[in-house]
Amino acid sequence: MASLRPGATLAHLALYLVAVDLGRLVGSQADGVFFFWPAAGLAALWLMDARSREQVWFSSALLVVGTTVLDVALGVDPLAAVLYGIANLTVGLTVRAFSALTEGTSFWGRLPRRLAKTRDLIDVGIACAVAGAVSAVPGMAAALVNNGSVSGEDLVAWVVRNAASTFIVVTSVLGVLTTVFRAHARNGWAAILTPKLRRYWGLELVTVSVLSIGAAVVMFRNADALPIAYAMIVASIWLGYRFSPVVGGVYTSVFATIAVLYTQVGLGPFGAIEDLTARAITVQVYAFVTSVVVMLLSLGGAERAALYARATASEARATSRAELLDAVMNVMTDGLIVLEGSGEVMMRNPAAEAMMGPRRTTGQDAPDDYGIFHLDGTSIERDDLPHTRALAGELVAAEDILRIDPSTGQQAVLSVGALPLPRPQADGGTMAVVVIHDVTQERTHRRELQAFAGTVAHDLKAPLTGVGSWAEILADQLDELGVNVTAPRSSLRRIETAAARMEQLIADLLAYSQAQSATLSPVSLSLTGMVEQVAREQREVYADVRPVIEHGPLGQVIADRTLLGQLLSNVIGNAVKYVAPGTTPHVLIGSELVGDMLEVRVADDGIGIPRGERGRIFDSFYRASSSGGYPGTGLGLAICARAVERHGGRISAREGLDGRGTTLVFTLPADPRPEPEDQRPGDTTSAEPPPRRVGSATAVR
Ligand code: ADP
Repeated sequence: MASLRPGATLAHLALYLVAVDLGRLVGSQADGVFFFWPAAGLAALWLMDARSREQVWFSSALLVVGTTVLDVALGVDPLAAVLYGIANLTVGLTVRAFSALTEGTSFWGRLPRRLAKTRDLIDVGIACAVAGAVSAVPGMAAALVNNGSVSGEDLVAWVVRNAASTFIVVTSVLGVLTTVFRAHARNGWAAILTPKLRRYWGLELVTVSVLSIGAAVVMFRNADALPIAYAMIVASIWLGYRFSPVVGGVYTSVFATIAVLYTQVGLGPFGAIEDLTARAITVQVYAFVTSVVVMLLSLGGAERAALYARATASEARATSRAELLDAVMNVMTDGLIVLEGSGEVMMRNPAAEAMMGPRRTTGQDAPDDYGIFHLDGTSIERDDLPHTRALAGELVAAEDILRIDPSTGQQAVLSVGALPLPRPQADGGTMAVVVIHDVTQERTHRRELQAFAGTVAHDLKAPLTGVGSWAEILADQLDELGVNVTAPRSSLRRIETAAARMEQLIADLLAYSQAQSATLSPVSLSLTGMVEQVAREQREVYADVRPVIEHGPLGQVIADRTLLGQLLSNVIGNAVKYVAPGTTPHVLIGSELVGDMLEVRVADDGIGIPRGERGRIFDSFYRASSSGGYPGTGLGLAICARAVERHGGRISAREGLDGRGTTLVFTLPADPRPEPEDQRPGDTTSAEPPPRRVGSATAVR
């Protein structure tokens, strides 16, 4: 029962029956001519409001029964009364069907009822025209029963009356309701009456209403039948253009009522038309045209106002975003530059200006003009500039460059990264963003530290060698003396072991400092050859445990020989070293091309690294908790990380073979050329063997 919405349905029935009665007031049953038929419009609104299949059926039945009962009570022939009811139902169902069709929803479901755009008005207009025509079938049948005959004129009068009445009622009511809900929700009550809050709009509304309604009354009350109805078009345009569909809807209804009432009694511009049917058709068409003009104009105005409000809001949003962006860019201490595809600077923040000097307008200057150089002071090719590479689509990771201010000669080290902007420009080109960070102080500090570490390590080497040698000499002297003293001999062994450990630490420190700062000389190297060389060394060093080191062809890389040697020697050395005592180390090395990098994996089945520590083992001096009992300084992987990073690669540790042990994964720039068949261990450019991690030999258990 709830789905039938009895309250709403009965309200519709009551309004509809009042409309039937009112309609009968403006016409003559005897002549079969009615000047206005609001019941058709109310039938349409009623059926459009039904929200379910049951409600459509229930409302339809009630509409026909209600019309019949009322008409019969008013003295209409029962059969004709049923047919009139069916005619009104036809109007309602046709408008409902059109509404479902234009909205793309089901005929039986809930329909959105709104009149917000001029397009909606056209849809309603078509629906009403068709409804007027279709309802003529039962309508003419009813007229036949009632009057005994029908003429072509009767048919035209029926169609025009029903179409015009339905249109005026439906558009007025929907226009009013839609605007009331929408405009109020957006801009408060005043917006219900006017799409734009102008000065004195209230005064204007009162003036135009009084003038137009007054003029309508004066004109339609006139008995002289002056043909001046066209003059009202001015009032219609004024109202429609300046006010909302609510005002339009109310005005149309009032105006149509005045026109119909006076015309019916033979007054006004159309009162002189003798033929009642022709007079009715004329006034209906007139009211219809007025309604179309007013509603079209007012809906257009409402649409424009909504559009304007949206445009203003989005403009305000864009402006505030731009201001925020400006503020953020201004306070940033890092430099930010956005470049167009042509290389022209689109925007840059004050920090960028301070670091890179005054704005350039063209991308055609040579890099030297900006005072930009490689760290060693050599010129950078234009194609190698970070922004040029980004504009070519490359994601440029931060790299250090040297800037020498052309006017002051002041030097700065800048870390510059660049990336292509994903948004393609209208001209099809790309844009690039360059981020600059001044690292002068950081780099100076680091250089000083490295120099200090290098010097200290180097200077410690000589005295340490002295300690070792003197310990050896002392042991020999004890032998020569033939004294059998255990305590001094054991102390001597400890001195030798400590000296050896210190020697390894110094060697590692030197290697670390070298990995950080030595100038790179990248060449094409056979990874297979380098790995074979290192594997051979490790088999010698760890001869007692007979390690198994396996690999296939691994490809070519572009790398610095010394750093690559240190990297492989540390990683493979660790894979052999970190195994449970008494087990044979098993190492598997493989590689795969990923983009323009070669990804290398060194997997072992050793003791593994606790998951939580896998990120930290690349820190200098960090030794995992599992490394107790294994010799080492905690510098090997720090050297590896630095070596890999300086080649633009990445390094990480994962699970090892069969879920046990460790896999060290790192990437290096690949040389796409195939490895030569008869490649010699170590490289394709020289036969010099790679260096070894010196201390490793002392790490044998
Ligand atoms: P260390 O001189 O101690 O070997 P590294 O920097 O080479 O220093 O390694 C850091 C730590 O990472 C080591 O102490 C060890 O705990 C762990 N580790 C490195 N490689 C392996 C591996 N293949 N298996 C198990 N643990 C490893």
